[in-house]
Amino acid sequence: MRRKLAAGNWKMNGTAADLGEITALMAAFPAPKLDLLICPPATLLARMADLRGAHPLRLGGQDCHAAQTGAHTGDIAAAMLRDAGADYVILGHSERRAAYAESNATIAAKASAAHSAGLTAVICLGESLDQRLAGQTLDIVAQQLAASVPDAATGANTVIAYEPIWAIGTGKVPTLPEIAQVHAKLRSDLVARFGVAGGQMRLLYGGSVKPSNAADIFALTDVDGALVGGASLKASDFGAIISALGAA
Ligand code: PEP
Repeated sequence: MRRKLAAGNWKMNGTAADLGEITALMAAFPAPKLDLLICPPATLLARMADLRGAHPLRLGGQDCHAAQTGAHTGDIAAAMLRDAGADYVILGHSERRAAYAESNATIAAKASAAHSAGLTAVICLGESLDQRLAGQTLDIVAQQLAASVPDAATGANTVIAYEPIWAIGTGKVPTLPEIAQVHAKLRSDLVARFGVAGGQMRLLYGGSVKPSNAADIFALTDVDGALVGGASLKASDFGAIISALGAA
């Protein structure tokens, strides 16, 4: 049985003034029946870790470097995220794939570094609008899955997030059958490659998830939760999505 995961990606949003959202979230869900994850900007990680006390809220980074230490100005090593209180790290988000030309091989190397540091990697993949319109979606996600997930991936150290690029921050969402089709393909490829562990890896959907569409998406087979951007910034919106996931 895979434990549901509600993950919030704050991207480059948030300062100390926004920590009240975390307090409100923890107050609304004092003992969540699912895994609750917030990935704030790195500057807020340690402060959120202090704030959470004994609450089971999980925290994550939004990227890490593949190396353990070294001359990489501006970058963060996986062990540094762990040291700041992170349990997870998002890797291969389409915004990073696009802005920093991150390849599948780079993402796989980062995931291995995350695993070595004791972090669970949330590996993102998804097709562009052109690729969807050309009927290439399943091939694209299969290639990304094969090349960006390292061989040592397990159900405990790896989560896959299907995020169609054209659905991120746009308010556009694939149809439910389209989401179900991609998740079924990902599950089948994971099981073919990893056996039992492939059945244990959680599959998140991401891309314009909001309180109004969450329940329908979460009712789909092989959707184990969501990676949420904009709607994770406010405890009220994210709380409604978490409730929908808890009820699914
Ligand atoms: C994301 O950035 O991972 C994301 C899914 O964003 P949004 O929910 O805002 O579409």
